[in-house]
Amino acid sequence: MRLVVLGGGESGVGTAILGKQKGYDVFVSDFGKIKDNYKEVLNHNAIAWEDETHTESLILNADVVMKSPGIPDKSPIVKKLVAKGIKVISEIEFTAPFTNAITIGITGSNGKTTTTMLTYHLLKSAGLNVGLGGNIGKSFAWQVAENDFDSYVLELSSFQLDGIIDYKPHIAILTNISPDHLDRYDYKYENYIDSKFRITMNQTEDDYLIYDAEDEAIANWLQNNTTKATLIPFSLNQVFTEGAFIKDNKMEVKMMNHEEFLMETESIALEGKHNMKNAMAATSVAKLMQIRNATIRESLSNFQGVEHRLEKVLKIQNVQYINDSKATNVNASFFALDSMTTPTVWIVGGVDKGNDYHELMSLVHEKVKGIICLGVDNKKIIEAFGNVVDVMIEVDNMPDAVRMAQRMTEKGDTVLLSPACASFDLFENYEDRGKQFKQAVYNL
Ligand code: ADP
Repeated sequence: MRLVVLGGGESGVGTAILGKQKGYDVFVSDFGKIKDNYKEVLNHNAIAWEDETHTESLILNADVVMKSPGIPDKSPIVKKLVAKGIKVISEIEFTAPFTNAITIGITGSNGKTTTTMLTYHLLKSAGLNVGLGGNIGKSFAWQVAENDFDSYVLELSSFQLDGIIDYKPHIAILTNISPDHLDRYDYKYENYIDSKFRITMNQTEDDYLIYDAEDEAIANWLQNNTTKATLIPFSLNQVFTEGAFIKDNKMEVKMMNHEEFLMETESIALEGKHNMKNAMAATSVAKLMQIRNATIRESLSNFQGVEHRLEKVLKIQNVQYINDSKATNVNASFFALDSMTTPTVWIVGGVDKGNDYHELMSLVHEKVKGIICLGVDNKKIIEAFGNVVDVMIEVDNMPDAVRMAQRMTEKGDTVLLSPACASFDLFENYEDRGKQFKQAVYNL
């Protein structure tokens, strides 16, 4: 069998290694540049590769093709493969048949990484032999090839899900759905929603789908479509006989045949309503995996969150600086602003993704004392909030943004970087943006 791997990054190289180990004739092709360390790994494993080109004669003779998530379906080489009837799948689809491990698949528009890391933390702290993969860290395929685990917590983007045929997670989490990446879905929100729900399409009665019951797109889909999985909802406002919810400042998780879980929300280390949702989802998984309540409580009380997601950087003269650089869409910034408890100077902006700032209006009115626009697309931000806040300025670099923010604050205030936009105008990526923010804060 000839396996062609499109894309020589983490998931591509992992898939190539696994394929080679399982006896495939493997070829890796990347239209961009493959990093030197990956080239070394491929050479070391005697795997053929090319970069900065796609040689069609070496690709179109594949029996199966693994396409890395970054490559769009619309790219010419993928179109040609599809036209020839060659199976084009994702890393998850390729890898799952080679392991007996239970997989927990986590998708959604926001909260994937936080929920994945928290779930992993809950299972790992309980002593389970569990791996972490998908969009995070070492690829799933690579781990299955080299050091397989009994279970995996996998962060799954919609692009990973687009390339599945038979894969199903035993436990799926759908954190929420709001418009994102629409350029890859013909600008149709329905297509993006359907893509997210692929996570449950192969699930059976023995499997679980944990989801946000308050999410409009999710509720609509569930009304008009079916899944065989057992449904486990979570909610901040409703209560369930089976599901997770908040009542009287306590998080409760109720499931048939499991001891009820109860914990004061105050004792959960993560902050913000959105993080209560993430905690409910992760705790539901821990319960299904038979983890003891005391162990779960302990882990929830010591999990400090993930870098660049509402990360507390430093307090200077009693002003708290918070790095939420990973907020690359309006919905993420909504929850960031919502969790602010003191007057806030908000650093926002970047590359606009068709943002509608309307839903932020009352939060900004209530919590934001000043806005610093940092990006190429400031026009819509100025139009939306120009009359709502007292001070609004534009800057074109991070050190200025942070210095100006400091000037606008007084004791007890917060400075929040939560851009609601992509970062590619002034920064390499959201990590670079977050790191520059932190450096600028340290320099104060
Ligand atoms: P993803 O991996 O889906 O991008 P992250 O956990 O990296 O999600 O968080 C991305 C951004 O969304 C951060 O700004 C974070 O504070 C915010 N966020 C985290 N969880 C949620 C949630 N459940 N709903 C809305 N926003 C969230």
